[in-house]
Amino acid sequence: MYKNKQSKTIPCSFFNCIEKNFDKAARFIPIEKGLLEQIKACNSVYRMHFPVKIGKEIKVIEAYRVQHSHHKLPCKGGIRYSIKVNQDEIMTLAALMTYKCAIVDVPFGGAKGGIKIDPQTISKDNIEKITRRYTSELIRKNFIGPGIDVPAPDYGTGEREMSWIFDTFSSICPGDVNALACVTGKPISQGGVRGRKEATGLGVFYGIRELCRMKEDMLSVGLDVGLVGKKIIIQGLGNVGYHAATFFHEAGAIIVALAEREGAIYNKNGLDVSQVIFHLKNTRSILNFPGAKNIDNTEKALELECDILIPAALENVIHKNNVNQIKAKIIGEAANGPITPEADEILEKKGVIIIPDIYLNAGGVTVSYFEWLKNLSHVRYGRIEKRFSENMNAELLQVIENTCRKKISIEEKKIILKGAREIDLVRSGLEDTMISGFHKIRDLKKSSKIKNMRTAAFVLAINKIIESYEKSGIFP
Ligand code: NAD
Repeated sequence: MYKNKQSKTIPCSFFNCIEKNFDKAARFIPIEKGLLEQIKACNSVYRMHFPVKIGKEIKVIEAYRVQHSHHKLPCKGGIRYSIKVNQDEIMTLAALMTYKCAIVDVPFGGAKGGIKIDPQTISKDNIEKITRRYTSELIRKNFIGPGIDVPAPDYGTGEREMSWIFDTFSSICPGDVNALACVTGKPISQGGVRGRKEATGLGVFYGIRELCRMKEDMLSVGLDVGLVGKKIIIQGLGNVGYHAATFFHEAGAIIVALAEREGAIYNKNGLDVSQVIFHLKNTRSILNFPGAKNIDNTEKALELECDILIPAALENVIHKNNVNQIKAKIIGEAANGPITPEADEILEKKGVIIIPDIYLNAGGVTVSYFEWLKNLSHVRYGRIEKRFSENMNAELLQVIENTCRKKISIEEKKIILKGAREIDLVRSGLEDTMISGFHKIRDLKKSSKIKNMRTAAFVLAINKIIESYEKSGIFP
């Protein structure tokens, strides 16, 4: 909320909310105001309307692509399909992408796209028609390309849509040897990288796990170190929420509640995530899961007793009307912008640790970067060095066995000799990125006496962007 000239209280737009967070961080950065304004501004906004024949009718489709920052190229950011898509939302999500890429050291400017449709009410054939037409509009205005702007999946989209985008791009722009790099999040058979699908959820897991390893931070919220036994609630069982839930469950955390559109389910002893997914596939709903209690008003699930709350669906779900009922000690922002600025301030006063979206859900763009590099280098990760590493390990082991006069078992040998596969390299790159990103933010927060992780993350991002503007000579 803010006051206008007539002192009337006006609700903050989503973009204004992010600007507020930016301004809080900017106070810690001694640089000319105009330069900060340039970093904050959206560089290009493309709003389009195009006709698509659906059945016997012609429907006019509203869509967007926003490039928030050109300080590094290409621009990068997902495409969402939702009936709630609007310019303000896409501008905000594009801005978040800029800061996110800077935090995890991924050399892209931020972008985002959106089509205002409800994919659940449209047939697959018509979604394909809309996706292909949207892509050709992007090509027409030079808003897509391996070195220009590279989309990826987001809310309501996945591998299927990304492969339609690639196919449309490569047929309209034949002969581009780098065409595969025009979009990421593709299926493996079409140039995707192993580990992209689960990357955002796995990144969320790595980020929260790292916080839970910090004794000092855990003491501040009255929790033990480690993930085992921590009670977790996850909102949204889509790409991000489902994978995050699976990794937390496997690590020994207790998933006490899962929330979807139609309602939520709760079991204080824990829900078996794979069984819930099986039930969801069979009944098309998470409700009535054996042994769990149904919660009809899905929003109420956020207010249940837990240690960690992970909103992984949409923005603004924690707001001034429900914030005082939130009991979590840690909130991991897997979704983009799930907490309004007013709620954020209240949670901070209560001592809740919030791991901000601009860091926590950066796993997707990190692995998208790996996919983009794979597409440009035209070679699968591990292809060149895997066999070489295995042979080297075998020779080394032989020397050790001869010296020690002891043979190890075949099972032990298998573990020691193994060369890295694509999935191993992608996951280790992601883990390293998330862990080092976490410590950069935490160290900055401590050394600059910044009150929360969000402001520290913004300071880190802004400094990185200034650095790259300075290197390019654009800023005097
Ligand atoms: P998705 O479409 O795969 O899943 C979203 C899920 O949320 C769906 O299962 C949907 O039914 C559910 N949902 C919708 N409204 C809900 C409600 N009111 N209550 C509970 N559940 C509800 O989308 P996703 O890709 O998992 O994205 C989720 C969030 O994560 C978005 O904010 C997105 O911007 C962010 N994000 C996604 C990625 C990615 O790689 N996919 C990367 C970074 C950030």
